[in-house]
Amino acid sequence: MCGIIGVSNHPEASRAIYLGLYALQHRGEEAAGVASFDGQEVHLIKSPGLASDALTDQDLIKLKGYAAIGHCRYSTTGSSNVKNIQPFLVRHRGRPIAIAHNGNLTNTAELFSRLEEEGSLFQTTMDSELIVHLLAKEKTNDLEKMFTNVLRQLEGAFSLVFLVGDTIVGARDPQGFRPLCLGRSGDGYVLASESCAFDLIKAEFIREVEPGEMVIINKDKLKTCRYGKNGAEKHAHCVFENIYFARPDSHIFNDNVYLTRKRLGAQLAKEHPVKNADFVIAIPDSGNYAALGYAQEMGLPFETGLIRNHYIGRTFIQPSQFIREARVRVKLNPIRDVLKGKRVVVVEDSIVRGTTSRSRIEELRNAGIKEIHMRISCPPIQWPCFYGIDFPSKKELIASSKSVEEIAKFIKVDSLGYLSLEGMLSVMNDGTQFCHACFSGKYPVKVPVNQSKYLLES
Ligand code: AMP
Repeated sequence: MCGIIGVSNHPEASRAIYLGLYALQHRGEEAAGVASFDGQEVHLIKSPGLASDALTDQDLIKLKGYAAIGHCRYSTTGSSNVKNIQPFLVRHRGRPIAIAHNGNLTNTAELFSRLEEEGSLFQTTMDSELIVHLLAKEKTNDLEKMFTNVLRQLEGAFSLVFLVGDTIVGARDPQGFRPLCLGRSGDGYVLASESCAFDLIKAEFIREVEPGEMVIINKDKLKTCRYGKNGAEKHAHCVFENIYFARPDSHIFNDNVYLTRKRLGAQLAKEHPVKNADFVIAIPDSGNYAALGYAQEMGLPFETGLIRNHYIGRTFIQPSQFIREARVRVKLNPIRDVLKGKRVVVVEDSIVRGTTSRSRIEELRNAGIKEIHMRISCPPIQWPCFYGIDFPSKKELIASSKSVEEIAKFIKVDSLGYLSLEGMLSVMNDGTQFCHACFSGKYPVKVPVNQSKYLLES
């Protein structure tokens, strides 16, 4: 995952980026950084932690300039090493180039070995660094030609923003795996992973950058070009952005995330109704809107059964299992007086390893619930993701080795129902344009086959 943002022609560019990173924080809590350009010099500050910890007031004063890009990181490739924090800055022919990347490339191994043979020296273990090495090899200074040549060599998932001097370049892979939105702010433009970042900086949403499109923005001028094959590629938007990852107030993949989640919940109710339940609750926050959709479709009351402690981030984003497990216990607390003796439908967006769900259900049982009917607003996740979602290896994905009945036993619920693949796609804005490899094993772009992520035993 990761959140990316860029602004041009803004009197307080780095502050706009900082606010934007606040809005995109859910896309990566591990580290944050900003690179800005003031007409003469480039400035770069990046640190581990949330945007509010990684960047101080003093930092923002130092980050002068009218053009800037920013990144919040959630590591999928490359370790959590500080060297891997973005934006990643290099100088090429006297010109600074900074990159912020969301997504995972799938031809990393080929590109690494080719570039190493040709003499490249790498500073990080990030696939994003490959992109600047490819840019450095280009003989032309014409940005459109240079970026076109490089972007055509990349495979997999990438939404990108670059700062090249005072020019912002934005690009999206031809399948459009990850979102990237374009907005207008005063006399300049903004690019951001999700439209929710625009609201905070009072930018106006224009549209999404198209899959296979590149935009080159200099001050108040925007040029757009297609570097990908014109219309030849089928889109493969990540359906998990809609299910879980993106913010509900964002508009991505031509749809509003909140409304999509409600439709997922309504479809789930059609496929797995629970008759005679007392009410529906969500596992907050990820299950909230699917639960609401479920309750409305069923005509059942929607209650709050778990209270979230707001001073904790998303549990999975911290890479260590020990921290993840500890945080599960402090994050949500059941309201006993609501739950005691009741038959309850519990809606969650997804089950990955099953460990969080199992401890959640145990807490609900301890609160005196009589029956728990768990409903999941996506199909069983059986396959690893190679395009940027940090799903574990196949052997850790509970649904890759257990049937729905076995999972129900493991998490100790009275019944368990998952949304079907067809049902999920039927409520998307054109279900044919989505990647659902984590559910179906149908990978729209060739993946590196010898990866251990695939293996059930290793
Ligand atoms: P679990 O029961 O341990 O599989 O945890 C399920 C919860 O973690 C659900 O709310 C999931 O949506 C959430 N989650 C989302 N993405 C991930 C991920 N990449 N890795 C682990 N858990 C995730």
